[in-house]
Amino acid sequence: MLVVINVAATVRKLERPLTIVFLIAVLTGNACPVWATQNATRVDVAGSQLHVVIENSDFRLPNKEIVSWIRRSAAVVVNYYARFPTEQAYIGVRAATGAGVKNGRALRHGPTVNITVGVESTPYDLESDWVLIHELIHLAFPRVPDRHHWIEEGLAVYVESIARANAGALTPEEVWHGFVRGMPHGLPRTGDRGLDFTPTWGRTYWGGALFCLLADIDIRTASGGKMTLRDALRGIVNAGLDMTNQVDSLSRVFAVADAATGTLALTTLYERMKDSPEAIDLPALWDDLGVNAQHQKIQFNDRAPRASLRAAITAETRTHAAEPHHKDFTD
Ligand SMILES: [Zn+2]
Repeated sequence: MLVVINVAATVRKLERPLTIVFLIAVLTGNACPVWATQNATRVDVAGSQLHVVIENSDFRLPNKEIVSWIRRSAAVVVNYYARFPTEQAYIGVRAATGAGVKNGRALRHGPTVNITVGVESTPYDLESDWVLIHELIHLAFPRVPDRHHWIEEGLAVYVESIARANAGALTPEEVWHGFVRGMPHGLPRTGDRGLDFTPTWGRTYWGGALFCLLADIDIRTASGGKMTLRDALRGIVNAGLDMTNQVDSLSRVFAVADAATGTLALTTLYERMKDSPEAIDLPALWDDLGVNAQHQKIQFNDRAPRASLRAAITAETRTHAAEPHHKDFTD
């Protein structure tokens, strides 16, 4: 942590993006000295600039295919948030053996997303990737204290699926299949003390994602279907709260989000779930939404009480990018 803070002080004095990416990579343990000698490719996305540095390695795919994948992933995020979350971002692509997108990490400084891609990757590997979208979504929420880490990961898990469905890159069946399989990991177990006080893998990633699903349902219900979690999250980004900000109070972020939808959905849900292990009856929830999972196959019941709400969550929606960023929030 100390190292990261020192890096922040150092990079503020530097102007060359490549040097910044290089320094961040080295000092966060993702050392890749070869980057320092390469040129960044600038990708313009909805008024923001992504500076892409691809490690000079033997990728089977040409660099332009990798840049296209980054552009497509950013477009999915823009379609959800109606803008790219930050004005600038640095994307570092590192090489690994094998095929597929291996892992990624979003760093507030820059901000930067480092992503590792197998040199044997095919177009399909990049076409079906979710990791980069997950990491880019991290740029759209401020840094919060460690006890709230579940909302950072939960949002990235939930929004990644929904944003891809909204962009037509994932079918509703694929989204709900993932949720039916994953959400049980997010349920409280014996000894659970609520989301802020139970930093297990299941509660962090899937407990956070379940919180987001419930919030999405509550916002849609409270607003008669006019508002969604997407509107709440756009409100956060539009207020200038992105990953480059550190915010001490999660309640304050949720107040900004709730103001954007004219509801109290996030605040109310957070008060309920932050320090107590609220029991969620998932089978009843799936029935209510009309999601039937049998033999690993998803079927929808369109006569279920909330079938139309469920269909709206994953509906394909095309969004025009908003005006460039304006920041009016300070913490
Ligand atoms: Zn993550």
